[in-house]
Amino acid sequence: VVHLADDARHDRLPLRRAGRTGLDLPVVTLGLWQNFGDATPYADQRALVLAAVDAGVLHLDLANNYGPPPGAAEESVGRLLATDLRPYRDELLIATKAGYRQWPGPYGEFGSRKYLLASLDQSLRRLGTDHVDVFYSHRFEPSTPLEETIGALRTAVESGRARYAGISSYSARRTREALAVAEGMGLPLALHQPSYSMLNRWVEEPDADAGGSSLLDVAGDAGLGVVAFSPLAQGMLTRKYLGGVPADSRAARGGPLRAEYLSEENLDRIRALDAVASGRGQTLAQLAIAWVLRDPRVTSVALGARTPEQLAENLAAVHGPALTDAELAAIDAHAGD
Ligand code: NDP
Repeated sequence: VVHLADDARHDRLPLRRAGRTGLDLPVVTLGLWQNFGDATPYADQRALVLAAVDAGVLHLDLANNYGPPPGAAEESVGRLLATDLRPYRDELLIATKAGYRQWPGPYGEFGSRKYLLASLDQSLRRLGTDHVDVFYSHRFEPSTPLEETIGALRTAVESGRARYAGISSYSARRTREALAVAEGMGLPLALHQPSYSMLNRWVEEPDADAGGSSLLDVAGDAGLGVVAFSPLAQGMLTRKYLGGVPADSRAARGGPLRAEYLSEENLDRIRALDAVASGRGQTLAQLAIAWVLRDPRVTSVALGARTPEQLAENLAAVHGPALTDAELAAIDAHAGD
């Protein structure tokens, strides 16, 4: 049965141009890192993705290893593309990555050509599509020549298996190097995907190894679009942890949100940031999203949601008032690593 997508889906979210590419992204991207494994019923996964698409979130961010088990998130999207979303493949931007461990042995992770292209072929099979829109190198891998990793991205694009190429979590210096290698090969890099939130500001910091430029400077100068991931610091930038750890939260599930992140010091900062949000008539999650999007070099935020209600709250961030200088200063007093 085909899903009848909301007629107004293309009017609901602002778009931003990714750097100097021709590609527009909705300012909110749905990430499928968590909540798309075997522990989540397919019906819940389906409801979340369809709610996102109806709301104009046309960009789905995947990786080969999202699950668990690795690959499960891509299989779910493949199932949706074959059923509910069958008419909408070309309205959607499907991104995937390779870099972390997907299968055992030396060819199942890191940065080799062998791994990247085999992984991409597996992703395409799980997704049931002949191309992804973005294929990323998920992490910089120091023991692999950058020419080999970037060369595999070029093959992905030139062979038609990917429309655009990207890199994720590369430092400012490594991004510069990757841009130079890609340019030498005639491959335009389109996107960089770094983490960025009020509790994690590394992308703003000058990098001595990149002549004092920050990652945002390097991306901005090169015309590379930026998809900022974990804008809610995995849920810490919401009110949910202020009164303890709720049973249904990511921290309670013993996953990547480690208990030590919820230190008293961090909780104090979260309370102070929540006060700024209340003063604007927003929730903390909404402020966290608006804050990452305040920088025009950020093309989109890749956020997660466990329920359609969370997603709806988060999407309303884009209709909030612009941040004032006084609010930005109050945030700077509490935001940081
Ligand atoms: P977020 O910082 O947006 O955290 C999302 C989580 O916060 C949700 O799963 C939910 O967790 C909680 N949450 C979300 N909205 C609300 C709300 N309104 N109220 C209360 N709680 C809320 O992002 P993620 O860490 O999930 O990462 C997002 C995406 O970024 C990933 O899916 C992936 O696509 C990408 N990513 C990329 C990486 C890379 O290396 N390139 C690495 C990590 C992420 P809960 O279960 O607690 O309710």
